[in-house]
Amino acid sequence: MANREYYDVIIIGGGPAGLSAAIYALRASMRTVLIEKASPGGQITLTDEVENYPGFKSINGYDLSEKFLSHAKSYNLEVLSQEALAVEPGLDWHSVQLNDDEQLKTHAIILASGGLPRKLDIPGEDDLYGKGVSYCAVCDGFFFRNKTVVVVGGGDTAVEEALYLSKLAQKVYLIHRRDALRASMILQQRLKADKKIEVLWNTTVSAIKSNEGQVSAIDLQNTQTEETRELVTDGVFIGIGFDPNNQLVPAGIKVNSDGYVCTDEKCETSIPGLYAIGDLREKYGRQIVLSAADGCTAALAAAYYVEVKRSSMGL
Ligand code: NAP
Repeated sequence: MANREYYDVIIIGGGPAGLSAAIYALRASMRTVLIEKASPGGQITLTDEVENYPGFKSINGYDLSEKFLSHAKSYNLEVLSQEALAVEPGLDWHSVQLNDDEQLKTHAIILASGGLPRKLDIPGEDDLYGKGVSYCAVCDGFFFRNKTVVVVGGGDTAVEEALYLSKLAQKVYLIHRRDALRASMILQQRLKADKKIEVLWNTTVSAIKSNEGQVSAIDLQNTQTEETRELVTDGVFIGIGFDPNNQLVPAGIKVNSDGYVCTDEKCETSIPGLYAIGDLREKYGRQIVLSAADGCTAALAAAYYVEVKRSSMGL
């Protein structure tokens, strides 16, 4: 075990945001530890193909996360495979409470705990993830060129996904459980004008079916008539919301109405020395490249913060 007396920076979360922060923190000679309760890599480890991370025309999500991790480890990154239980802000030192009643002291904390897309929790959703089921049109839409896809949801995400997919797919169905969308008016207008998109109102999806391991159809139910039917489709995009993992965000930090942490341009929260990056942070877009950029920003800002803090404390 490395010196646990104190750290310059503790990073919580080992996805692209956290690992990018680690690379920059270690290169800035900060005493750094990354805490990750599962294996490092984050959501991308579950993605089959990533085709929009610069420098890699196509790479398996797991392989890309391994590259992030081995890059960070090449600077001797210390990884604690433990769960962080609480983050306690302080004046000179912040601290992180670990599972085993151990508390780590640090000047700066970078929260990179990500989030998860909301699930429909229907048969086939988990088994067919990456085999026609997706939560990200920008990531996976390309695989559905000239095919038929459905998008589930009625908010901004679902409508944006449907509009994005209509540029690639042959036919897009937007499936919404009510008779009115909650998406913004401008998106609704664009949706209405798009001839490739058909909205199925008052409709829920009850199962996703497969043929030879790939999505082939879905079961639908009309919420008013209770009539059921099958719809043939190659892909199912689920856009019913995203939940940031904000359980560790201490009280006093500004969080928006959807649970995302508000930061300034340095990714610093309303508490000095506490940073939030990646999918946990309020920002436009949730992409690997954006998470990596956040990691860089926060680590650079933290390095400066730690230097000033140490010198003010005579360390
Ligand atoms: P959202 O606004 O919460 O909308 C979720 C949609 O999914 C709703 O239409 C909801 O239906 C539906 N839904 C929820 N659970 C469902 C279930 N179990 N089965 C079927 N449908 C279900 O989420 P979002 O669209 O991801 O947007 C989240 C926030 O990000 C919003 O504030 C949004 O404005 C913002 N956003 C903005 C942009 C942009 O400005 N370009 C893009 C994306 C997101 P009901 O309507 O019936 O509740």
